[in-house]
Amino acid sequence: MPPHWLLSRRTLRKFEEYEMKFQSQWLGTLPQGRVEPSKTSAVGLADALPPAAETPWSRSLWLEGVVPNLTPREQLSGDHTCDVAIVGAGFAGLWTAYYLKAADPSLRVTVIEAEIAGFGAAGRNGGFVSAGIAGSGARYARRSGWDAVLRAERETHHGVDEIGRVISEERIDCGYKKGGALTLATTDPQAQRVRARVEAKHGFGLGPEDIRLLTAEECAELVPGAAGVVAGCFTPHVARVDPARLARGLADACERLGVTIFEQTRAERVSPKVVQCGNGRVTADVVVRATESYTIRERGHRRSFLPLYSLMVATEPLSQETWDELGWRDGLGVADMRHLYYYSQRTIDGRIALGGRGAPYRLTDPLSPQNEQDAGVFQRLCETLREAFPAASQARITHHWGGSLAVPRDWCMRTTFDGKTGLGFVGAFGGHGVVAANISGRTMRDLILGQSTDLTSLPWVGYRSRSWEPEPLRFVAARLITKTLEASDAYEERTGKPAKRARLVKPFLPPG
Ligand SMILES: Cc1cc2nc3c(=O)[nH]c(=O)nc-3n(C[C@H](O)[C@H](O)[C@H](O)COP(=O)(O)OP(=O)(O)OC[C@H]3O[C@@H](n4cnc5c(N)ncnc54)[C@H](O)[C@@H]3O)c2cc1C
Repeated sequence: MPPHWLLSRRTLRKFEEYEMKFQSQWLGTLPQGRVEPSKTSAVGLADALPPAAETPWSRSLWLEGVVPNLTPREQLSGDHTCDVAIVGAGFAGLWTAYYLKAADPSLRVTVIEAEIAGFGAAGRNGGFVSAGIAGSGARYARRSGWDAVLRAERETHHGVDEIGRVISEERIDCGYKKGGALTLATTDPQAQRVRARVEAKHGFGLGPEDIRLLTAEECAELVPGAAGVVAGCFTPHVARVDPARLARGLADACERLGVTIFEQTRAERVSPKVVQCGNGRVTADVVVRATESYTIRERGHRRSFLPLYSLMVATEPLSQETWDELGWRDGLGVADMRHLYYYSQRTIDGRIALGGRGAPYRLTDPLSPQNEQDAGVFQRLCETLREAFPAASQARITHHWGGSLAVPRDWCMRTTFDGKTGLGFVGAFGGHGVVAANISGRTMRDLILGQSTDLTSLPWVGYRSRSWEPEPLRFVAARLITKTLEASDAYEERTGKPAKRARLVKPFLPPG
């Protein structure tokens, strides 16, 4: 199979078209791709897609809330020298800058951001500040032992509170509320997976105060308006935020400490001691890359991640009567246990924001604004919302957006720093980066300052994942995985039996 760069763009497009035709003819899948948005700003469920962002940065419900009051920070122009240059102003880059500058105010710390702080996944995600390690406990254990994995898991619990502490100390108005999270099962196979998850967590040292199984009745006490629930589990280690407000507030907090942030400044080449940008150059002893899924745009890094899109929808603000009927208390996250699971939050302005996987991976343009809306996924998310929360079934869907995750080949995150070259990396969080980015920021601070701490011995420090297969293999695998999971969910709902086919793609999936 010739490598990706030997195949012309035309060939790739043809291949993609052929594959999509094959899917719809033989696999009978949902329609995919961009459909025309409705002319109105809000539409009924299962109607046309809500319009895409009107301004280039309003790429989510959350960003839409912050962009109108925003004047972008200055761009880099000419040469700039500092001690530590951080590329990317998402959560990982900003937390690194924040903790580093707070620890050593004499350091000159500069953040370089291609768009605006919070433009990437940080400003588009589900707003779950949730504990749980990003990656596979078993894989980390092979390298560092189960004690280290338990310590890492505990660190994620602390991370939820640490984020809350900074939010309160820096007076960041982002609706942080720690109400825990409920994971619901609506079929027997899902209930088996919930049980397995809780048993696995208890098996390596967590207790019922960290995660516990719930009966259908106990679930109904938490969210009486959730339909079809047969079992569930609850963890208290989750908070809800408006993620864009958190990212923007964190950028402001960094600046108050003395960090320089350049916005609308794309790094063209990231190398030891130098970050080359279009309109200037940053020279620094230490350079940290925090560009997550966008990393694949750079030569030499194309196979580091699978840029997998997660898409979301949001309803209009619901009436108080609807919230009373749902009985869903503020700050509680709700998710389910399907293979293509959903996650949802009650937003600070009283909407349901619900997201899920399954967006098609595009061979010719894996990272493109086009991928942020998809008719098939939109339809599935609307149906999910309607089925899961019938009291909200008449609510209009006003927003549909998405963002890309950086999925490493084994789903394991990493924090790496080479003291010789001064080059660092924070990221590879998959879909679980809000807390992980905070931990990575604190860890990178210690690594740069040359301190050996509990953080610098966490199992993902210095961890390396193998690269993804070359295209079009990565594309075929990504499509097949999504389709297999979609088909597995349909099978389980139809028969009430576990779908064996889901096991086929398990090696490529996030750890359960
Ligand atoms: C729809 C969705 C829902 C999610 N839900 C959750 C959730 O509920 N909880 C959770 O824990 N995680 C969730 N995630 C994952 C989480 O959002 C990410 O793991 C996390 O935001 C990653 O942060 P980051 O700073 O590493 O990356 P990003 O936020 O993507 O930041 C990278 C930044 O780098 C900038 N950049 C890229 N290239 C360059 C360049 N060359 N020069 C300069 N700047 C550059 C980008 O513009 C961007 O601002 C979700 C993700 C998505 C997309």
